[in-house]
Amino acid sequence: MPENIPLELIKAAIEVARHAYAPYSHFAVGAAAVTTDGSLYTGANMENASYGLTVCAEIGALQAACSAGKLADIVKIAVVGSPQSENFTTQSQLITPCGRCRQLILESAKLGQRDIEIWCASPNMTSIALHHSSTLLPHSFSADDLAIADKTWLDSQR
Ligand SMILES: [Zn+2]
Repeated sequence: MPENIPLELIKAAIEVARHAYAPYSHFAVGAAAVTTDGSLYTGANMENASYGLTVCAEIGALQAACSAGKLADIVKIAVVGSPQSENFTTQSQLITPCGRCRQLILESAKLGQRDIEIWCASPNMTSIALHHSSTLLPHSFSADDLAIADKTWLDSQR
């Protein structure tokens, strides 16, 4: 087990997973983000009959932080997910954010110039893994690349 486990953050992710709207996959996910000032923002996955419009729990948490003007201030994110059931909190499954969410978390990390801790926990909290935004999305594409592209384009116009 890693040290300094943010138990309250993980518990918040577990709690919000109760509100997952997952009538198609029956897979509930909860995410909770904490910012530099200790504020907490949560999200649950929200599926859609069109399937492709499904929104991940992490996006909900990031969007909530963004709406509060805190997208650059996220320090840690906790993610839990497991089949939706009354026994959700007894499940031992551990998940990590999908590729899209890794990219979105990285944007927040770049904004705040920090390597965001991503705590992945099983709903029963027997398995907990610590990852970082930099390691979950190595060789990433970010605003840094756009800045280079922009500079190259600008140089070509001179
Ligand atoms: Zn996702």
